[in-house]
Amino acid sequence: MKQGPLRRVSKKQAKELAVRAALKRELLEECDHTCMTCNNLRLDFRGLSLSHVIALGSGGKTARDNCLIECYPCHDDYEKHAERRPEWQKAKFNIV
Ligand SMILES: [Zn+2]
Repeated sequence: MKQGPLRRVSKKQAKELAVRAALKRELLEECDHTCMTCNNLRLDFRGLSLSHVIALGSGGKTARDNCLIECYPCHDDYEKHAERRPEWQKAKFNIV
C-alpha cells in the first residue's frame, strides 16, 4: 500500500498542538516575548519555546500552571532538570 508523504496526526495530537499554540501565544503576550527564566529580550516566536515545568511524560499538563516561555538554552537546561530551576519557579510550580 502506498503511503502519503505526510504523516497524519491523531485527533488527540492535533488537539494537544492547538492547546499548546494557543497557550504559547497567550504567555508570549504576558512576558512581552522575553524568556521567563533568564529575561533574554525580544526573541521572536521561533526563538522562544513553551517549556513544561513537569514534563508531559511525567504527568505534566499543557496548562498555564505548568508552562513557561523560555529561550532554547533555558529550555534545554531545565526541562529535564526541574530541580535546577530558580527558587521563584520552584515556589510557583511546587517543585521539590
Ligand atoms: Zn532563557
